Order: sequence, then C-alpha cells, then structure tokens
Amino acid sequence: MAGTTTNKRAPAKKPAPSPIGETPDDARKRALRVFRALTKAYPDAHVPLNYRNALELLVATILSAQCTDARVNEVTAPLFVKYRKASDWKRIPVPKLEKMIHPTGFFRNKARAIHEATEDIDTRFGGSVPGTMEELLSLRGIGRKSASVLLATIYETPAIVVDTHFSRISRRLGFTAEIDPTKIEFDLAGIVPRKHWADFSLMLNWHGRVTCYARKPDCDACAVRKHCPAFESRGEITWKVKIPAAKRRPAKAKAAAGPGTRREGRPKREKA
Ligand code: SF4
Repeated sequence: MAGTTTNKRAPAKKPAPSPIGETPDDARKRALRVFRALTKAYPDAHVPLNYRNALELLVATILSAQCTDARVNEVTAPLFVKYRKASDWKRIPVPKLEKMIHPTGFFRNKARAIHEATEDIDTRFGGSVPGTMEELLSLRGIGRKSASVLLATIYETPAIVVDTHFSRISRRLGFTAEIDPTKIEFDLAGIVPRKHWADFSLMLNWHGRVTCYARKPDCDACAVRKHCPAFESRGEITWKVKIPAAKRRPAKAKAAAGPGTRREGRPKREKA
C-alpha cells in the first residue's frame, strides 16, 4: 500500500455532512452496496507486499511510501532472509540501511523510521510488534497508516487504511470531501460498518490499482459505476471538495473552471 501518514490524532466521532448531499443513512447503504460489488469483483484482492510476519509487513509498509510494491518486494526479498528479528534490524548501521533500501526512494527517512521502530520494538516490546493502535503509534517512525495496515492485516482488528487510492476513490464516490487522511478515515468510519473496515480498505486499494486509476479511470469497466456520482464525469469531481492551500489555483483559473470543482489527477505526494 502506497504512502505513509504521520498524523497520530484519533478520528473524531461525528461525521461531516455528505459532499453530495445524501443523508448519512443513504451514504451507509450506498457504501455497503459499493463494498459488496467490489468484494464480488475482486475475490482475489490481497495486500501486494510480500511478508511473512508483522515485523516484515511493518518494514515493507515503511518502504512502500512513494514506491511501487514490485520495487519494495524486490528490495525486501534478500533483506528478509538476512534480518529476521527486530534486534537484527536495529543493529544495521543507518548509512548501511540507507544503501540497502536506496531503490525505494526517500531512503534517509525510511532508514531512520525502520531503525527507530525496530529499536523500540526490541527494547520496549521484547522483540514482538505490538498489536494495538496506541502501542503501534508509540513506536518512533510509525504513523497512523502503517499502524492501521498492521492492525487490519495481521491482528484482525477493525482499522481503516487510508492510502492514496483510498483517498482518491473515497472522494470520487462522494463519501468524503477531505484531503487529510485522518479526516477521511473519520468520514468513512461513520458510514462503513466497523466489521468491514479492513476489507473495505483493501477493496478500495485494489480498485485503485486495477480500475479507478488516478488518471483516466476505467469507468466503463467499473463494478461500482452505478453507485458512483463521478461515473458520468469519468472520475472528475463536480462537487465541492477541500483543496490544500498549496494546490489552490489563481482566482482567474478557478473562475474559469467553475466553483468548487476539482479534477482528480495525480495523487498528492505524501511525505516519506
Ligand atoms: S465509476 Fe469511475 S470514478 Fe467511479 S469508482 Fe468507478 S472507475 Fe472510479
């Protein structure tokens, strides 16, 4: 899964109004229909990172920020043979680790995150990756998204994993108007049944990889097109969404495009 967030604030309790004006009840029903259709369409959906245990998934998730899963799997294959315990990872000198993970990009930040997280796991948790959101967030180098991946995938604990695919498709489906991953998580938590959080995350992630691309989504082949308010506009959002200040266009260009419109293009780069 691509991208790692560092916002450790827990989602608030009350969902925001629907950006497409539907009632919370209608949004819940539609979310369920979307979930069922995606589950039917993608029976083989899976986490595309290779791992055998929680520690390996944690390392792979850190490396996956702004990097393809194929590249991460290439890089981790020899490393997972050589380094098996948190104590093995924490002993790797950071400059050496930086060289080993260099192909995944953002190698300095990632090396530091792996070093700090494995040091914490070894010294504070006896070498075992902890299994609660609170404990995972207490690890240095671990953000909310990485913690959610661990909870949803390894510990079978309800968790919403907000990556770039999830963010983009949630907005296209009109389930949120937010850009901030924690706010998106909070909006979706209000409409997706808790027991489906992990699988819903996986389905949206998979849908983003194979159909609802950032550029030119394949709307005609989409399993949820009849539930998607962006179908007619081919992924272009025609309702109001929140746009980060850095991405706001000059007033003139904005006026020409119409109020509150936003084309969903290349996903926002996330900090490694
Ligand atoms: S109809 Fe198009 S924009 Fe909507 S979810 Fe499907 S692929 Fe994405």
